[in-house]
Amino acid sequence: MILLGSTGSIGTNALKVATAFGLPIESLSAGKNIALFNEQIRRHRPKKICILDSEDLPKLDMPFIKAHDIEVFCTESGLLEMIESSQSTLAINALVGYAGLAPSLKIKQCGKKLALANKESLVSAGWLFAGYPITPIDSEHFGLWYLHTSRKIHKLYITASGGALRDMPLADLPSATPAQALKHPNWSMGQKITIDSATMVNKLFEVLEAYWLFGLSSIDAFIEEHSAIHALVEFVDGSITAHISHADMQLPIAYALDEQQAKCVRLIPRFDIATLTSLRFSPIDVRRYPVWELKPTLLAYPKLGIVLNASNEVALRAFLDSHICFGDISACILQSMRHFESVKTHTLTHLQDIKRLDSEVRAFSASWLGLS
Ligand code: NDP
Ligand code: MG
Repeated sequence: MILLGSTGSIGTNALKVATAFGLPIESLSAGKNIALFNEQIRRHRPKKICILDSEDLPKLDMPFIKAHDIEVFCTESGLLEMIESSQSTLAINALVGYAGLAPSLKIKQCGKKLALANKESLVSAGWLFAGYPITPIDSEHFGLWYLHTSRKIHKLYITASGGALRDMPLADLPSATPAQALKHPNWSMGQKITIDSATMVNKLFEVLEAYWLFGLSSIDAFIEEHSAIHALVEFVDGSITAHISHADMQLPIAYALDEQQAKCVRLIPRFDIATLTSLRFSPIDVRRYPVWELKPTLLAYPKLGIVLNASNEVALRAFLDSHICFGDISACILQSMRHFESVKTHTLTHLQDIKRLDSEVRAFSASWLGLS
Protein backbone atom coordinates (compact mmCIF):
# COMPACT_ATOMS: atom_id res chain seq x y z
CA MET A 1 0.00 0.00 0.00
CA ILE A 2 0.87 3.69 -0.22
CA LEU A 3 0.89 5.59 3.08
CA LEU A 4 1.12 9.39 3.00
CA GLY A 5 2.02 11.04 6.31
CA SER A 6 3.52 7.93 7.93
CA THR A 7 5.22 9.89 10.74
CA GLY A 8 1.95 11.36 12.08
CA SER A 9 -0.59 10.09 14.59
CA ILE A 10 -2.73 8.30 11.98
CA GLY A 11 0.35 7.28 9.97
CA THR A 12 2.05 5.50 12.89
CA ASN A 13 -1.21 3.74 13.79
CA ALA A 14 -1.64 2.69 10.14
CA LEU A 15 1.82 1.11 10.21
CA LYS A 16 0.90 -0.82 13.39
CA VAL A 17 -2.26 -2.17 11.72
CA ALA A 18 -0.39 -2.98 8.49
CA THR A 19 2.18 -4.93 10.53
CA ALA A 20 -0.53 -6.79 12.46
CA PHE A 21 -2.26 -7.68 9.16
CA GLY A 22 0.98 -8.55 7.32
CA LEU A 23 0.35 -5.97 4.59
CA PRO A 24 3.40 -4.90 2.60
CA ILE A 25 4.25 -1.19 2.32
CA GLU A 26 5.24 -0.04 -1.15
CA SER A 27 5.44 3.73 -0.65
CA LEU A 28 5.83 6.00 2.39
CA SER A 29 5.88 9.77 2.81
CA ALA A 30 6.84 12.08 5.67
CA GLY A 31 7.14 15.80 6.34
CA LYS A 32 9.95 16.98 8.62
CA ASN A 33 10.39 14.15 11.15
CA ILE A 34 13.26 12.44 9.34
CA ALA A 35 14.57 10.62 12.44
CA LEU A 36 11.30 8.67 12.79
CA PHE A 37 11.05 8.29 9.01
CA ASN A 38 14.49 6.62 8.89
CA GLU A 39 13.33 4.13 11.54
CA GLN A 40 10.15 3.40 9.54
CA ILE A 41 12.16 2.91 6.33
CA ARG A 42 14.48 0.42 8.04
CA ARG A 43 11.56 -1.46 9.57
CA HIS A 44 9.07 -1.53 6.70
CA ARG A 45 11.47 -1.47 3.71
CA PRO A 46 9.29 0.47 1.25
CA LYS A 47 10.23 0.59 -2.44
CA LYS A 48 9.57 4.33 -2.70
CA ILE A 49 9.78 7.19 -0.22
CA CYS A 50 9.06 10.92 -0.30
CA ILE A 51 9.95 13.80 2.03
CA LEU A 52 8.67 17.38 2.02
CA ASP A 53 11.91 19.41 1.82
CA SER A 54 14.95 18.80 -0.36
CA GLU A 55 17.10 20.38 2.39
CA ASP A 56 16.31 17.30 4.55
CA LEU A 57 17.65 14.82 1.96
CA PRO A 58 21.10 14.60 3.67
CA LYS A 59 19.36 13.49 6.91
CA LEU A 60 17.95 10.36 5.22
CA ASP A 61 19.73 7.05 5.89
CA MET A 62 21.28 6.96 2.40
CA PRO A 63 23.46 3.85 2.90
CA PHE A 64 20.34 1.82 3.76
CA ILE A 65 18.29 3.44 0.98
CA LYS A 66 20.98 2.72 -1.63
CA ALA A 67 21.59 -0.81 -0.36
CA HIS A 68 17.87 -1.62 -0.75
CA ASP A 69 17.40 0.26 -4.02
CA ILE A 70 14.68 2.54 -2.59
CA GLU A 71 13.50 5.30 -4.93
CA VAL A 72 13.52 8.76 -3.31
CA PHE A 73 11.07 11.55 -4.14
CA CYS A 74 10.86 15.03 -2.71
CA THR A 75 8.45 18.01 -2.37
CA GLU A 76 4.75 18.13 -3.26
CA SER A 77 5.36 17.41 -6.95
CA GLY A 78 7.55 14.42 -6.00
CA LEU A 79 4.74 13.12 -3.80
CA LEU A 80 2.35 13.18 -6.77
CA GLU A 81 4.95 11.37 -8.92
CA MET A 82 5.41 8.74 -6.22
CA ILE A 83 1.67 8.07 -6.08
CA GLU A 84 1.47 7.82 -9.87
CA SER A 85 4.44 5.46 -10.17
CA SER A 86 3.30 3.12 -7.37
CA GLN A 87 1.69 -0.22 -8.26
CA SER A 88 -0.42 -0.44 -5.07
CA THR A 89 -4.16 -0.13 -5.47
CA LEU A 90 -4.68 1.09 -1.86
CA ALA A 91 -3.56 4.57 -0.78
CA ILE A 92 -3.97 6.01 2.71
CA ASN A 93 -3.89 9.78 2.92
CA ALA A 94 -2.90 10.65 6.49
CA LEU A 95 -1.45 14.07 5.62
CA VAL A 96 -2.68 17.01 7.65
CA GLY A 97 -4.30 20.13 6.19
CA TYR A 98 -4.81 21.52 2.72
CA ALA A 99 -1.51 19.91 1.60
CA GLY A 100 -3.48 16.66 1.40
CA LEU A 101 -5.88 17.81 -1.32
CA ALA A 102 -3.69 17.48 -4.43
CA PRO A 103 -2.47 13.99 -3.36
CA SER A 104 -6.10 12.88 -2.79
CA LEU A 105 -7.00 14.06 -6.28
CA LYS A 106 -3.97 12.24 -7.71
CA ILE A 107 -5.03 9.01 -5.94
CA LYS A 108 -8.49 9.43 -7.49
CA GLN A 109 -7.02 10.18 -10.92
CA CYS A 110 -4.96 6.95 -10.69
CA GLY A 111 -8.12 4.98 -9.80
CA LYS A 112 -6.66 3.72 -6.51
CA LYS A 113 -8.73 3.01 -3.41
CA LEU A 114 -8.68 6.21 -1.32
CA ALA A 115 -8.60 5.60 2.45
CA LEU A 116 -8.98 9.14 3.67
CA ALA A 117 -7.94 10.55 7.03
CA ASN A 118 -7.17 13.94 5.47
CA LYS A 119 -10.65 15.40 5.98
CA GLU A 120 -9.42 18.79 4.69
CA SER A 121 -9.54 17.26 1.16
CA LEU A 122 -13.32 16.92 1.44
CA VAL A 123 -13.81 20.19 3.33
CA SER A 124 -11.97 22.16 0.64
CA ALA A 125 -13.14 20.34 -2.46
CA GLY A 126 -15.67 17.59 -1.69
CA TRP A 127 -17.48 18.12 -4.99
CA LEU A 128 -14.34 17.16 -6.96
CA PHE A 129 -14.70 13.65 -5.47
CA ALA A 130 -18.39 13.26 -6.40
CA GLY A 131 -19.15 9.64 -7.29
CA TYR A 132 -15.69 8.39 -6.27
CA PRO A 133 -15.76 5.81 -3.45
CA ILE A 134 -13.88 6.98 -0.36
CA THR A 135 -13.19 4.93 2.77
CA PRO A 136 -13.23 7.34 5.71
CA ILE A 137 -10.61 7.10 8.46
CA ASP A 138 -12.42 9.23 11.02
CA SER A 139 -14.14 7.64 14.02
CA GLU A 140 -17.52 9.32 13.44
CA HIS A 141 -17.66 8.58 9.71
CA PHE A 142 -16.46 5.06 10.24
CA GLY A 143 -19.31 4.77 12.78
CA LEU A 144 -21.82 6.13 10.24
CA TRP A 145 -20.53 3.71 7.61
CA TYR A 146 -20.77 0.84 10.12
CA LEU A 147 -24.41 1.74 10.86
CA HIS A 148 -25.42 2.24 7.25
CA THR A 149 -28.08 -0.17 6.01
CA SER A 150 -30.53 -0.20 3.13
CA ARG A 151 -33.20 1.31 5.42
CA LYS A 152 -34.17 4.89 4.64
CA ILE A 153 -32.23 7.39 6.77
CA HIS A 154 -33.82 10.48 8.29
CA LYS A 155 -30.81 12.06 9.99
CA LEU A 156 -27.13 11.53 10.83
CA TYR A 157 -25.61 12.49 14.17
CA ILE A 158 -21.95 12.67 15.11
CA THR A 159 -20.51 13.35 18.55
CA ALA A 160 -17.84 15.73 19.81
CA SER A 161 -15.73 15.43 22.94
CA GLY A 162 -15.75 19.20 23.43
CA GLY A 163 -11.96 19.35 23.20
CA ALA A 164 -9.34 20.46 25.68
CA LEU A 165 -11.10 23.64 26.82
CA ARG A 166 -14.53 22.13 27.37
CA ASP A 167 -14.54 22.89 31.10
CA MET A 168 -12.58 26.14 31.14
CA PRO A 169 -14.56 29.14 32.50
CA LEU A 170 -15.95 31.09 29.53
CA ALA A 171 -14.22 34.30 30.63
CA ASP A 172 -10.78 32.60 30.42
CA LEU A 173 -11.32 31.03 26.98
CA PRO A 174 -10.19 33.90 24.72
CA SER A 175 -6.75 33.90 26.34
CA ALA A 176 -6.24 30.10 26.57
CA THR A 177 -2.66 29.12 25.71
CA PRO A 178 -1.50 26.59 23.07
CA ALA A 179 -0.35 24.25 25.88
CA GLN A 180 -3.87 24.30 27.39
CA ALA A 181 -5.62 23.84 24.03
CA LEU A 182 -3.37 20.89 23.15
CA LYS A 183 -4.41 18.78 26.16
CA HIS A 184 -7.18 16.69 24.58
CA PRO A 185 -9.18 14.75 27.19
CA ASN A 186 -9.85 11.54 25.19
CA TRP A 187 -7.77 11.24 22.01
CA SER A 188 -4.05 11.38 21.30
CA MET A 189 -3.82 13.13 17.93
CA GLY A 190 -1.71 15.54 15.89
CA GLN A 191 -1.51 19.21 16.95
CA LYS A 192 -3.81 20.62 14.31
CA ILE A 193 -6.80 18.35 14.90
CA THR A 194 -6.37 18.79 18.67
CA ILE A 195 -6.73 22.58 18.34
CA ASP A 196 -9.53 22.07 15.79
CA SER A 197 -11.33 20.05 18.48
CA ALA A 198 -10.94 22.84 21.04
CA THR A 199 -12.45 25.43 18.65
CA MET A 200 -15.10 22.95 17.32
CA VAL A 201 -13.79 23.59 13.78
CA ASN A 202 -13.14 19.84 13.64
CA LYS A 203 -16.86 19.13 14.05
CA LEU A 204 -17.74 21.62 11.29
CA PHE A 205 -15.21 19.80 9.11
CA GLU A 206 -16.82 16.49 10.01
CA VAL A 207 -20.31 17.75 9.22
CA LEU A 208 -19.04 18.66 5.74
CA GLU A 209 -17.17 15.36 5.51
CA ALA A 210 -20.41 13.49 6.30
CA TYR A 211 -22.28 15.62 3.75
CA TRP A 212 -19.88 14.69 0.93
CA LEU A 213 -19.53 11.04 1.98
CA PHE A 214 -23.17 10.18 2.59
CA GLY A 215 -25.00 12.74 0.42
CA LEU A 216 -27.33 13.92 3.19
CA SER A 217 -27.67 17.44 4.57
CA SER A 218 -29.68 16.44 7.61
CA ILE A 219 -26.68 16.21 9.96
CA ASP A 220 -26.20 17.35 13.54
CA ALA A 221 -23.68 16.96 16.33
CA PHE A 222 -23.67 17.05 20.11
CA ILE A 223 -21.16 16.69 22.91
CA GLU A 224 -20.60 13.27 24.48
CA GLU A 225 -17.68 13.73 26.84
CA HIS A 226 -16.37 10.15 26.94
CA SER A 227 -16.01 9.69 23.15
CA ALA A 228 -17.73 6.32 23.59
CA ILE A 229 -20.59 6.96 21.17
CA HIS A 230 -19.15 8.16 17.87
CA ALA A 231 -22.19 8.33 15.60
CA LEU A 232 -25.93 7.70 15.46
CA VAL A 233 -28.25 7.10 12.56
CA GLU A 234 -31.93 7.99 12.81
CA PHE A 235 -34.06 6.04 10.35
CA VAL A 236 -37.36 7.13 8.83
CA ASP A 237 -39.07 4.29 10.74
CA GLY A 238 -38.27 6.06 14.04
CA SER A 239 -35.40 3.79 15.14
CA ILE A 240 -32.01 5.16 16.12
CA THR A 241 -28.82 3.06 16.14
CA ALA A 242 -25.54 4.09 17.72
CA HIS A 243 -21.92 3.13 17.09
CA ILE A 244 -20.05 2.58 20.35
CA SER A 245 -16.41 1.62 20.75
CA HIS A 246 -13.26 2.39 22.66
CA ALA A 247 -11.68 5.66 21.42
CA ASP A 248 -8.92 4.16 19.27
CA MET A 249 -8.23 5.02 15.63
CA GLN A 250 -6.85 1.54 14.92
CA LEU A 251 -10.44 0.32 14.45
CA PRO A 252 -11.36 2.59 11.49
CA ILE A 253 -7.85 2.20 10.09
CA ALA A 254 -8.13 -1.61 10.22
CA TYR A 255 -11.39 -1.56 8.24
CA ALA A 256 -9.88 0.81 5.68
CA LEU A 257 -6.83 -1.41 5.22
CA ASP A 258 -8.43 -4.84 5.11
CA GLU A 259 -12.12 -5.25 5.95
CA GLN A 260 -11.95 -9.06 5.92
CA GLN A 261 -9.18 -9.19 8.54
CA ALA A 262 -10.67 -6.30 10.56
CA LYS A 263 -13.90 -8.27 11.07
CA CYS A 264 -12.04 -11.20 12.62
CA VAL A 265 -9.53 -9.71 15.08
CA ARG A 266 -9.52 -7.42 18.11
CA LEU A 267 -6.93 -4.68 17.76
CA ILE A 268 -8.40 -2.33 20.35
CA PRO A 269 -9.31 -2.83 24.03
CA ARG A 270 -12.70 -4.26 24.90
CA PHE A 271 -15.34 -1.57 25.55
CA ASP A 272 -16.55 -1.52 29.16
CA ILE A 273 -20.34 -1.51 28.85
CA ALA A 274 -20.65 -0.05 32.39
CA THR A 275 -19.32 3.23 30.95
CA LEU A 276 -22.70 3.75 29.29
CA THR A 277 -24.33 4.51 32.64
CA SER A 278 -22.22 7.65 33.02
CA LEU A 279 -22.74 9.07 29.51
CA ARG A 280 -24.07 12.62 29.18
CA PHE A 281 -25.14 14.43 26.03
CA SER A 282 -25.13 18.18 25.70
CA PRO A 283 -25.71 20.64 22.89
CA ILE A 284 -22.78 22.53 21.35
CA ASP A 285 -22.90 25.98 22.96
CA VAL A 286 -22.02 28.84 20.57
CA ARG A 287 -20.79 30.97 23.47
CA ARG A 288 -17.98 28.45 24.01
CA TYR A 289 -17.64 27.45 20.34
CA PRO A 290 -18.56 30.57 18.29
CA VAL A 291 -17.81 28.90 14.91
CA TRP A 292 -20.64 26.41 15.50
CA GLU A 293 -23.10 29.08 14.29
CA LEU A 294 -21.70 28.41 10.78
CA LYS A 295 -23.11 24.87 10.58
CA PRO A 296 -26.39 25.69 8.75
CA THR A 297 -24.63 28.03 6.31
CA LEU A 298 -21.99 25.41 5.52
CA LEU A 299 -24.60 22.73 4.91
CA ALA A 300 -26.56 25.10 2.64
CA TYR A 301 -23.37 26.26 0.81
CA PRO A 302 -20.76 23.54 1.33
CA LYS A 303 -18.25 25.16 -1.04
CA LEU A 304 -17.69 27.73 1.72
CA GLY A 305 -15.62 24.92 3.26
CA ILE A 306 -12.63 26.34 1.35
CA VAL A 307 -12.99 29.62 3.25
CA LEU A 308 -13.44 27.86 6.58
CA ASN A 309 -10.38 25.68 6.01
CA ALA A 310 -8.00 28.36 4.70
CA SER A 311 -8.84 30.96 7.37
CA ASN A 312 -8.58 28.27 10.06
CA GLU A 313 -5.15 27.12 8.86
CA VAL A 314 -3.78 30.68 8.93
CA ALA A 315 -5.23 31.47 12.36
CA LEU A 316 -4.29 28.12 13.89
CA ARG A 317 -0.65 28.46 12.79
CA ALA A 318 -0.52 32.00 14.22
CA PHE A 319 -2.02 30.74 17.50
CA LEU A 320 0.50 27.90 17.81
CA ASP A 321 3.28 30.43 17.11
CA SER A 322 1.84 32.64 19.91
CA HIS A 323 1.11 35.57 17.57
CA ILE A 324 -2.61 35.63 18.36
CA CYS A 325 -4.96 34.58 21.18
CA PHE A 326 -7.17 31.49 21.16
CA GLY A 327 -10.29 33.64 20.71
CA ASP A 328 -8.81 35.19 17.55
CA ILE A 329 -9.03 31.85 15.69
CA SER A 330 -12.84 31.83 15.75
CA ALA A 331 -13.04 35.60 15.19
CA CYS A 332 -10.84 35.31 12.10
CA ILE A 333 -12.90 32.45 10.67
CA LEU A 334 -16.20 34.27 11.22
CA GLN A 335 -14.80 37.46 9.64
CA SER A 336 -13.42 35.54 6.64
CA MET A 337 -16.74 33.76 6.11
CA ARG A 338 -18.54 37.14 6.05
CA HIS A 339 -15.96 38.66 3.69
CA PHE A 340 -16.12 35.74 1.23
CA GLU A 341 -19.90 35.30 1.37
CA SER A 342 -20.11 35.59 -2.45
CA VAL A 343 -18.37 32.20 -2.72
CA LYS A 344 -21.85 30.77 -2.09
CA THR A 345 -22.62 31.25 -5.78
CA HIS A 346 -19.20 30.30 -7.22
CA THR A 347 -18.96 27.15 -9.33
CA LEU A 348 -15.26 26.31 -8.59
CA THR A 349 -15.04 23.37 -10.96
CA HIS A 350 -11.24 23.03 -11.19
CA LEU A 351 -8.42 22.61 -8.68
CA GLN A 352 -6.96 25.86 -10.04
CA ASP A 353 -10.12 27.78 -8.98
CA ILE A 354 -9.85 26.28 -5.51
CA LYS A 355 -6.14 27.12 -5.24
CA ARG A 356 -6.80 30.73 -6.24
CA LEU A 357 -9.59 31.15 -3.69
CA ASP A 358 -7.56 29.38 -0.99
CA SER A 359 -4.69 31.87 -1.53
CA GLU A 360 -7.07 34.85 -1.44
CA VAL A 361 -8.61 33.69 1.84
CA ARG A 362 -5.16 33.10 3.37
CA ALA A 363 -4.04 36.62 2.37
CA PHE A 364 -7.23 38.16 3.79
CA SER A 365 -7.01 36.21 7.06
CA ALA A 366 -3.32 37.03 7.57
CA SER A 367 -3.98 40.71 6.96
CA TRP A 368 -7.04 40.77 9.25
CA LEU A 369 -4.99 39.17 12.02
CA GLY A 370 -2.23 41.74 11.48
CA LEU A 371 0.27 39.08 10.39
CA SER A 372 1.22 40.73 7.10
P1 NDP B 1 -0.13 14.66 12.36
O1 NDP B 1 0.23 16.09 12.43
O2 NDP B 1 0.14 13.78 13.52
O3 NDP B 1 0.58 13.99 11.06
C1 NDP B 1 0.56 14.60 9.82
C2 NDP B 1 1.48 13.86 8.85
O4 NDP B 1 1.59 14.62 7.64
C3 NDP B 1 2.92 13.71 9.36
O5 NDP B 1 3.47 12.55 8.78
C4 NDP B 1 3.61 14.95 8.80
O6 NDP B 1 5.00 14.80 8.65
C5 NDP B 1 2.96 15.03 7.43
N1 NDP B 1 2.90 16.38 6.89
C6 NDP B 1 2.50 17.51 7.52
N2 NDP B 1 2.50 18.56 6.68
C7 NDP B 1 2.91 18.07 5.48
C8 NDP B 1 3.12 18.67 4.20
N3 NDP B 1 2.92 19.98 3.97
N4 NDP B 1 3.54 17.89 3.17
C9 NDP B 1 3.77 16.57 3.38
N5 NDP B 1 3.61 15.95 4.57
C10 NDP B 1 3.17 16.69 5.60
O7 NDP B 1 -1.68 14.61 11.97
P2 NDP B 1 -2.76 13.47 12.34
O8 NDP B 1 -2.19 12.12 12.06
O9 NDP B 1 -3.33 13.75 13.66
O10 NDP B 1 -3.91 13.81 11.29
C11 NDP B 1 -3.79 13.50 9.91
C12 NDP B 1 -5.14 13.72 9.26
O11 NDP B 1 -6.07 12.78 9.82
C13 NDP B 1 -5.74 15.12 9.53
O12 NDP B 1 -6.44 15.54 8.42
C14 NDP B 1 -6.69 14.87 10.71
O13 NDP B 1 -7.75 15.81 10.73
C15 NDP B 1 -7.19 13.47 10.38
N6 NDP B 1 -7.65 12.70 11.53
C16 NDP B 1 -6.80 12.45 12.56
C17 NDP B 1 -7.22 11.73 13.67
C18 NDP B 1 -6.26 11.37 14.75
O14 NDP B 1 -6.65 10.59 15.65
N7 NDP B 1 -5.04 11.86 14.75
C19 NDP B 1 -8.61 11.27 13.79
C20 NDP B 1 -9.42 11.56 12.63
C21 NDP B 1 -8.95 12.25 11.55
P3 NDP B 1 6.07 15.13 9.83
O15 NDP B 1 5.44 14.79 11.12
O16 NDP B 1 7.21 14.22 9.44
O17 NDP B 1 6.42 16.58 9.69
MG1 MG C 1 -13.39 12.51 14.10
